[in-house]
Amino acid sequence: MSQNCIFCKIVAGKSGGPPLYQDEHVTAFKDINPQAPLHVLVIPNKHIVSLNEAEAEDRVLLGHLFLTAAKLAQQEGVAASGYRLVTNTGPNGGQSVFHLHLHLLGGRRLTWPPG
Ligand code: AMP
Repeated sequence: MSQNCIFCKIVAGKSGGPPLYQDEHVTAFKDINPQAPLHVLVIPNKHIVSLNEAEAEDRVLLGHLFLTAAKLAQQEGVAASGYRLVTNTGPNGGQSVFHLHLHLLGGRRLTWPPG
C-alpha cells in the first residue's frame, strides 16, 4: 500500500463506498466522474504505478484484471452490446491517478479514435 494513493485507500476500505467487486487480488468500483452509463475501474490491490512499472511476476495478476473486467461487463449487462477497456499510461496517455487501473466503459456507442 502506498500512503498517499487514493486507490490504495479504496482497496483498504478507507475511502468510498463498498466496492462493486473485491477479492484478494483485485478491486472494482464505480468511477467518480463517469464518462459512460457504465464506468467501472478495475485495479490490482497491489500498488503498481502504471503499466510501465508492471513486471513479469505480475502477469497472472494482469490476466486476472482483464478477466475480472470481462466478468463485470457480463454482470453489468454490457457484454453483448460491447464495451471498452482503457489503461491510460503517463502524461500523453492522460493518466491522472498513479495506481494502475482498467477503465471499463459501456452502455453507449463509444467513438473512435479517442481524443
Ligand atoms: P486516469 O485519468 O486514467 O488515471 O483515471 C483516473 C480515474 O479515476 C478518473 O476517471 C477519475 O474520475 C477516477 N477517480 C479519481 N478519484 C476517484 C475516487 N475517489 N473514486 C472513484 N474514481 C475516482
